[in-house]
Amino acid sequence: MNYQLTVGLEVHAELKTRTKMFCNSANDSNETRPNVNICPVCMAHPGTLPVINQQAVLHVLRVGTACGGTVADVTEFDRKNYFYPDIPKGYQISQYKNPLILGGILNGVAIERIHLEEDTASSSHNGDHSLVNYNRAGVPLMELVTKPVIKSPEQASAFARELQLLLRTLGASDAHMDKGEMRVEANISISKTDTLGTKVEVKNLNSFRSVERAINYEVERMTKILDGGEGIIVQETRGWDEIKQSTFSQRKKENAHDYRYFPDPDLPKLKLSEISEFTHEILTKSMPELPHEKRARLIRNYNIKEVNAEIFITDSTLGTLFESTAVLLSDDTYNLLENYITSDIVGLIKGEGSLQNIIPAMLAKLIRFTKEGKLSSRGTKDILMGMYMNGGDPEVIAHERGLFQISDANQLTIVINEIITTHPTVVAEYKMGKVSAIQFLIGQGMKISNGSANPAQLKELFEKRMNL
Ligand code: MN
Repeated sequence: MNYQLTVGLEVHAELKTRTKMFCNSANDSNETRPNVNICPVCMAHPGTLPVINQQAVLHVLRVGTACGGTVADVTEFDRKNYFYPDIPKGYQISQYKNPLILGGILNGVAIERIHLEEDTASSSHNGDHSLVNYNRAGVPLMELVTKPVIKSPEQASAFARELQLLLRTLGASDAHMDKGEMRVEANISISKTDTLGTKVEVKNLNSFRSVERAINYEVERMTKILDGGEGIIVQETRGWDEIKQSTFSQRKKENAHDYRYFPDPDLPKLKLSEISEFTHEILTKSMPELPHEKRARLIRNYNIKEVNAEIFITDSTLGTLFESTAVLLSDDTYNLLENYITSDIVGLIKGEGSLQNIIPAMLAKLIRFTKEGKLSSRGTKDILMGMYMNGGDPEVIAHERGLFQISDANQLTIVINEIITTHPTVVAEYKMGKVSAIQFLIGQGMKISNGSANPAQLKELFEKRMNL
């Protein structure tokens, strides 16, 4: 019997606010000069006092509400004590017993809690010395902890993706994993019974792919230990080495009591139910359409493929282009539109040009021409590229470039007559049974019409004529 994997995730996300969590230093992740967004409060000078950032609290409450979690009646901030150069006060202000949010569910995964804390400074280690940049010290940080209910690496990364989408939809965080704006830690254990095995916490997961790979790596490592009978799994914190694609032991896991948590006496308890800015009505009224709602609506209303709905949700510019064009079209063209956006336009946006050049009304016109058979798929692609580069009306571009297909039988008959007269040998060959000779004739037809004939129709008409 194989081991059953169990994963719980802890996700930290830097919140989008103008100022830091407890002072008015700027919260600017794009600042490249070190130690400029600092002040006596976030540098822990004696005698300074923290003040709670209302916007940061609101962000967490909205995330919690979007996940159907319970907003705490009373919440408080605690000191998490430990020494490290990146934490100037000697403690991190976090939340312990009374987090802002309890419970909730996202992407089928039950949430334990969501709380608010402050980020640490960032340190860089260079040979014999280390540098510390305090710009990030005190930036508001949301921490979401799931219940240990995740059963596969794919489910873990899918959860993280959905959370990233939600944070962006709510404007709570940019949540770029490569920039450290969203950081995932996985608590991993395996067991053959219902009792959970010893867990190992893996840190430094900077991409969705590393989340999956680190979990897979740990399952293999733990299975070897248990099956080999050599020793036991040690409860510890491990790091993920992106280059070696493996985890390594960092430190034996400390317990909560090691941090000597206690309520921060410098900050008031918040009775959230009595704060008018945080009422349930305000939290729900400002809620935008959530990713799972949008996903369901796009598939229901437009009958598009799930993978394309995902593209439109992840890239809202493409999503908006799709929807504002689709409303101008009839429902039998949605799939054509969906395909041209998710294949051709997705390809175009990697190069020069601008998506803003493509106006929904003009894109709708182009899709209609294509649906009606007035343009070949090659012609549509060319026009789309032209529109992406310079804007414009597909009708004008098609005329200029002679891209409209001639499907008019009378016009095509003139072309066919001409070819049959000028190529009697080929026609004779065809009539003798060399069926492939028709390709040459169709080729001539495309040439004479400058590529504007509809090849399928040419073939049909040639066959009709020569089989007489
Ligand atoms: Mn934390």
